[in-house]
Amino acid sequence: MSDTDILISGGQPLAPPEDSNIISLEDFAGHNSAEVLRVDGDTELAEIVPHLEKAKTIIVKFPAFTDGRGFSLGRILRQRAGFKGELIAEGPLIPDQYAYAIQCGYSAVKLDSILYERHSESHWFKALSAFGLTYQRGYAVHSGPATSILDARKTGFRDAETQDDPFHGLSAEMALKKACEAYEGQIVLASSLGVDSVVLLHMVSKIDPNLPVIFLDTGKHFRETLAYRDLLIEDLGLTNFQNIRPDPNELQSEDPTGDLHKSAPDSCCDLRKVRPLDKVIRTFSARITGRKRYQTPQRANMKMLETGGDQIKVNPLAYWSAKDVTDYIRRHDLPPHPMLALGYLSIGCQPCTTRVAAGEDPRAGRWRHSDKTECGIHFIDGKWEQVPTKKSYEVF
Ligand code: SF4
Repeated sequence: MSDTDILISGGQPLAPPEDSNIISLEDFAGHNSAEVLRVDGDTELAEIVPHLEKAKTIIVKFPAFTDGRGFSLGRILRQRAGFKGELIAEGPLIPDQYAYAIQCGYSAVKLDSILYERHSESHWFKALSAFGLTYQRGYAVHSGPATSILDARKTGFRDAETQDDPFHGLSAEMALKKACEAYEGQIVLASSLGVDSVVLLHMVSKIDPNLPVIFLDTGKHFRETLAYRDLLIEDLGLTNFQNIRPDPNELQSEDPTGDLHKSAPDSCCDLRKVRPLDKVIRTFSARITGRKRYQTPQRANMKMLETGGDQIKVNPLAYWSAKDVTDYIRRHDLPPHPMLALGYLSIGCQPCTTRVAAGEDPRAGRWRHSDKTECGIHFIDGKWEQVPTKKSYEVF
């Protein structure tokens, strides 16, 4: 960074630490009076821990606007290592990311003054209180969200479709607890590690941290998603997290170059998602989903407990609105997905996910340049089926 850098703290531009006082990780131990440590965003916590007592300030470098690994490192430094000094995110960040950095425990961001001036001073200041709006922007929903869980429940009591739902009227946590008890040893949470997955993962961690959680590790995820996975496993204390991966022999014979997603995305999803998930999910008789009534017209009457078909579905968040998700994440101080601050509102495999512009449907960023709208994973009449052309969010 140049000597025209700006430090933004409390929404205000300030002078950053002198460059000559900022010492790299390699040299820090050799400088007796050094107090300002600079590390890369992908540095392992174990490499920083020996210097935490001496470092009064830690500057974490973000090499690019699109590299969100430093967010996770900030959170880990605060929550896991208990770092209490000044924590500065350095790099080409924008106001939304400033807000996100604050959420992750940063005290300030340091950036080039030219970048700073591309946004008005009020942008940086407003960003401090705008995180909730940024997060909720991800929910440009089809039928409009319920305004709150209570409103949704009130509406639900007049809904004939819910009369035979044994879980109707229970809170999400209570429904989940009852399901975990009723189907002990046979129930699984399939998590996409998307923007609101942390809610159910947090609830599961409180009820039974050893409950099986499965994640489709397609081999094509953003590195931020994988870092987010590792962060949540550790922070929430999940002890039975399973990464489901494609069969290596099938990968070798059907996608040896890793480019199948370019020529035949449906086949790629079948190879990397449908088949691996199908093998594992069938070994459980009940499955927890994060599906919500407001998301699609097909889900408008969805029950919290669905017992038809081969597999029982537990939908603890059936009555939740987007606001309920945001409120829960804030109330429990849970880390949002790092890609959210980069403008990714629906997050899947890296080659098939792009940023979403303000006002776009959150899923507009998935398979943007093709007709494809689905990963092919659906549960229909008790069977997992591939339905490449039908728009649905049946699993996650
Ligand atoms: S989302 Fe893209 S990369 Fe991922 S499995 Fe489907 S086609 Fe392949």
